[in-house]
Amino acid sequence: MLGVLPSGLNLLYPPVCQLCHARRAEAPAGFVCGQCWRQVRFIRPPFCHRCGLPFAGEFTTNFVCTNCHDLELHFSSARSAVVAKGVVREAIHRFKYSGAVWFENFLVGLLLREAAPALLASEPWDGLVPVPLHPVKLREREFNQAARLAAPLARATKIPLQENILRREHSTGTQTALTRTERAANMKHAFAVRPGTRLAGQRLVLVDDVFTTGATTNACAAALRAAGAKEVAVWTVARGL
Ligand SMILES: [Zn+2]
Ligand SMILES: [Zn+2]
Repeated sequence: MLGVLPSGLNLLYPPVCQLCHARRAEAPAGFVCGQCWRQVRFIRPPFCHRCGLPFAGEFTTNFVCTNCHDLELHFSSARSAVVAKGVVREAIHRFKYSGAVWFENFLVGLLLREAAPALLASEPWDGLVPVPLHPVKLREREFNQAARLAAPLARATKIPLQENILRREHSTGTQTALTRTERAANMKHAFAVRPGTRLAGQRLVLVDDVFTTGATTNACAAALRAAGAKEVAVWTVARGL
């Protein structure tokens, strides 16, 4: 097993679940045990066909939800693998803000399981574009979680990773205290396509860890569309409800 993982995570960490700390779990599973894994809620229909918001109940036709029907969306659809609650929320939070890199395999596994077959069924896609971090934040955090998630998805689907076409123009700070309208205004000019990038006619997939209001991914999609992209879809590991 150690030969499979060049990072040698199993040498560094005991094989214990890093969520419940009670059961055995190893590096390939992202140090998440089977029991914690079974608490993950995968997103299944029915969900809004634009923003991906899941609903309880029976819907047999495509529908647009009250969350997004009055929003100007620049992406064609947003989909997420799982609900951002419980074990998933904790793993993402610690992965992003506390350097808990051992959760990467867990989060990548969730994304690949749902996004890879869906993307392969709706080919052709010209590129996977991770939502960029501002350079200052990137230096603080030392990695862009969206890029860490997009890279294995690119390998699994053979869709090229286009890591450097978007850049974050200014740091927006933490958005958690803002309303949806404030977030959207804050984000409007946060992203730009690098000069000289040609996207005419391309179909691109934005990748991020969590989709909450959609303000971030919508601003990225707007920048890509303005640079000529024909379609932008969104995939994230988790969906905030
Ligand atoms: Zn556990
Ligand atoms: Zn919606």
